[in-house]
Amino acid sequence: MADSQSQNNGLATPSFGMVLDASPDALLALAPGGSITMANAAAERLFGFKPKELAGRNYRSLFTPGFHDEVDRLFQQQLAEPGGHPPPREVFCVNSNGAEFPAEVAVALLPGSVLAVPPGAGSGHQLLLSVRGTSHRAAAQEDLREAMSLLTATLESTADGILVISNQGNVAGFNDQFLRMWGIPPELLEGDSEEPIVQLVVSQLADPVAFMGRINELQDNPEAESHDVLDFKDGRTFERYSRPQRVGEQIVGRVWSFRDVTPRRKAQEQAQQAMLDLAAQAEKLRTMAFQDPLTGLANRAVFNDALADALKEPRLKAVDVLLLDLDDFKEVNDILGHQAGDDMLIEVARRLRGCVPTADVVARLGGDEFVVLLTACPDADDIAGCIVRCLHVPVTISGTVLRPSLSLGLASLGQDNVGPSELLRHADIAMYAAKAAGKNRFLRFHPDMMTALVQRTDMESGLQMAVSRGEISVDFQPIVSHRMGQVVQFEALARWDKDGERVPPSVFIPLAERTGLINEIGAEVMAYGMVQLASWLSEDPSRSLSVNVSGVQLQNPDFAEEVLRLADATGVAAYQLALEVTESVFFDADCSLIKQLSRLRDAGARVALDDFGTGYSSLGRLQDLPVDTVKIDKTFVSMVRTGAERLPILSSMINMAHSLGLTVTAEGVETAAQADYLTALDCDSLQGYLFSLPEPGVRMKYALHHAEEALNALKGR
Ligand code: C2E
Ligand code: CA
Ligand code: CA
Repeated sequence: MADSQSQNNGLATPSFGMVLDASPDALLALAPGGSITMANAAAERLFGFKPKELAGRNYRSLFTPGFHDEVDRLFQQQLAEPGGHPPPREVFCVNSNGAEFPAEVAVALLPGSVLAVPPGAGSGHQLLLSVRGTSHRAAAQEDLREAMSLLTATLESTADGILVISNQGNVAGFNDQFLRMWGIPPELLEGDSEEPIVQLVVSQLADPVAFMGRINELQDNPEAESHDVLDFKDGRTFERYSRPQRVGEQIVGRVWSFRDVTPRRKAQEQAQQAMLDLAAQAEKLRTMAFQDPLTGLANRAVFNDALADALKEPRLKAVDVLLLDLDDFKEVNDILGHQAGDDMLIEVARRLRGCVPTADVVARLGGDEFVVLLTACPDADDIAGCIVRCLHVPVTISGTVLRPSLSLGLASLGQDNVGPSELLRHADIAMYAAKAAGKNRFLRFHPDMMTALVQRTDMESGLQMAVSRGEISVDFQPIVSHRMGQVVQFEALARWDKDGERVPPSVFIPLAERTGLINEIGAEVMAYGMVQLASWLSEDPSRSLSVNVSGVQLQNPDFAEEVLRLADATGVAAYQLALEVTESVFFDADCSLIKQLSRLRDAGARVALDDFGTGYSSLGRLQDLPVDTVKIDKTFVSMVRTGAERLPILSSMINMAHSLGLTVTAEGVETAAQADYLTALDCDSLQGYLFSLPEPGVRMKYALHHAEEALNALKGR
């Protein structure tokens, strides 16, 4: 110690007592018997005794009874190995106030020279007892506990599942979320073996091999961090992170954290699907701009573009436009419904496409109008003919067999430099001509058709004036009853002489219907007929006058009254009137139309269904219609050639009508064979050139005579 003074740069060497009292730990010297022989200042402070109160006191009194043995054992340990340094012990002490406090004690042997050996000391050794109060540690431990609980709370509140595995492969920690996410019962983690947990985890995964592979990889590589995605069999998706667990510099284990990203992934998938849907929708909209949605054919815009392209300079050698329109399509729609109409259009589109080279455009212009553009086609007439034939093949729609037919106009690029709209107009004119020529055919445009078109407009203005100019007259055609052997009825048929030329009713009647002039013409025919036949009718109540009535006329709410007034004025009994209507008037029959017919029937007039069998409706519909007579169309009558053929259609029509209480008239009877055939089928009356042509009023007697002669000739056979 004296040496150290010179080494301490002239500082005074402290005395031993100073050192003792400066010690922050309480130091107590003990006699071998255990009584205190000396205590430093820190001991006085720690235990709260004055120096003389400590002296002679047994050290045990400074410890709570529960720790006496503990301290004794410490002494024993030291005495048993005098050269050793047993580690300090945690104990509880008691101070002068009787208050207990935690402390750490350490012991050492004192060399005999330092203190006199107290009498009775077992070993004769003196001991030094060092005591350090550890109350401050409790506070630190409190802080630690708090920090721990904060950590646990954080761990438990995180959405991630966390698992810590020690280097030895044991579970060192986990949070509840980990158990929940993997559905692991907590008991399983308390067991000795990891095996069931691994089994449980692996059984849930879509790719267990990859899962285990990654674990093994990291086992060989403790420093590594990793991130991957786990797909579950049940559709869930976890992200898996792993990083080493370090304490200081040392890696003691590995932390695994799992995050359930299923909702995020689902949202991503949904967003992706929404994008795909959007793209598909855009694509659909794009095609819709060019496509007819019903038939899938091109639309008008595509056709117009293609036609304009085809006519651009330098011009192609051949450009043909085929414009076509279905015949009587309205009837399909009206009788069988719109679905059937749609089905028919789809079928027509399919057939059309089949007739036309793939490179050429087939478009639907709207309604039942289609157009075909042929470029570089060697024979457009051939294709047009093929279309007409293919379309006319029967097809079953809504349980009904239909034979679609169409009228087609064909216009081709000729020498003259026509533009697209001109070419289309030519095709339109040709199509119109095909319809006028009897439908179910194609016609190639010819400049004469332009004249016909001009004539048509010319005719329309002519028809306006026809009645007032007295150009409308009536022919009468007799209808005979074989049973009664006489003429029983005349049908009044309108005639128009325009500029000295007779215009066929098939031309001017449709025109009159379109323009509404049929009201005026129909009234004229009706009035003229009644006036002409009044006296013939008055001779025999079983005689009657038949007049054709168009659906347009029946729209007039005063029609029935006007007819009855006229009959009254001319002296014709209402029951001697028959009104001929075609099936088409019933298609979209409203109550007012039915009312008109009912009013007339109530007054005694009869209603005949004209042209029966030519429409799309079935025999079964007959019973629903307010009619008294059916007139079998001449196309059926013309099926009878020799009279030896079997024609079940004719017999079933007649039988069906009779079973419904209707009478039957056959039209267009031209031969004796036909008359015989129909008479054999019990047809009630016959009409046709065999008996008489329609004749003007002044030749009525001649017509009657001719008809009766023909009847007699039949009887003589
Ligand atoms: P419809 O009512 O079926 O008239 C019968 C048509 O058959 C008449 O033609 C008549 O001349 C014709 N015909 C008569 N017997 C024979 C025959 O043995 N063989 C052939 N091939 N034909 C025969 P028409 O006079 O040319 O009349 C044509 C159509 O015009 C009529 O057919 C009718 O639908 C319509 N029509 C005529 N007059 C009127 C009218 O005043 N009002 C209305 N709304 N339509 C009328
Ligand atoms: Ca008729
Ligand atoms: Ca007819």
